[in-house]
Amino acid sequence: MLPRPEIPVHDNLFESEESIRARRRPDEQSPCALCGGRSFTLLFHKQGYDFTRCTDCSLVRLDPLPTPELLAEIYERSYREGLYAMFAKADDVRSATARARVAAIAPQVPAGPWLDVGCSTGALLQAAVDRGLDAEGIELSAVAVAAARERGLRATRVAADDFLPERRYACITAFDLVEHLIDPNPFLARVRDWLAPGGRLAITVPDIRSAQARVMGRHWYYYAPPVHVNYFDRDTIVRLLAHHGLATVRIGGAPKVMTIDYVLQSLAAFNPLLHRGARVLGTVTPASLRRRPLRIPVGELLVLASA
Ligand SMILES: [Zn+2]
Repeated sequence: MLPRPEIPVHDNLFESEESIRARRRPDEQSPCALCGGRSFTLLFHKQGYDFTRCTDCSLVRLDPLPTPELLAEIYERSYREGLYAMFAKADDVRSATARARVAAIAPQVPAGPWLDVGCSTGALLQAAVDRGLDAEGIELSAVAVAAARERGLRATRVAADDFLPERRYACITAFDLVEHLIDPNPFLARVRDWLAPGGRLAITVPDIRSAQARVMGRHWYYYAPPVHVNYFDRDTIVRLLAHHGLATVRIGGAPKVMTIDYVLQSLAAFNPLLHRGARVLGTVTPASLRRRPLRIPVGELLVLASA
């Protein structure tokens, strides 16, 4: 589990082409996270990385894979350089998304406690608590955990790898997380063990077969190396969950609630090129509309799976 910005980083500000090339090891490539295969075909190239598809199961992933050390450094730097502060400021926008997600999930979850993995400042915990749910969260960022506790929420600073729950959960949420994991299998195995019998795991992942991904091609904002490592569609995510005894009970598009101002702000920070085009939208849109929360389909899937 790693802290991460909610809008993926676009330009590869973190690595040179040379350092990426130096990590390529064609002879000792690690196996596909879904099927264990070792044969991949090149789809396209972006920001120093090859995007490849497993010829056996069609899971898409980066080549070369990032190292845990590289990702840890990038997330630390993002927090240090204030990207985190920007997302914390957009708390109203994230709260609206959290409320929409909790409202969608809660009716399909048995009674019992909830755990939010990567709870950040607690937007989802707050939405759950507001519905009368018993919810707690884990998170790596000390700043985020402090902010959540300030609001009276139950948040613990601990990595998913080190977390030892004292109880089993009726629902575990892990949003915008699985695509960041170099190997999602150990994480899913752990989470599966934390669920009560019949408990539900709710995750979101970017969908490479979404309309947004198809239209934008390699320029799609979720094709974000090196922080997004594995890239799923409905078929590959359902099969990955099934490997861990998690049966998908519901899968569908997951809109994010955003304002046009928020989108423009995020683009300015992460993708200057796109921002130049989008600024026109900001100029011609009345201020009242720019601040109105809109449900924007971003090309993400919300998957609910049963233990
Ligand atoms: Zn595969």
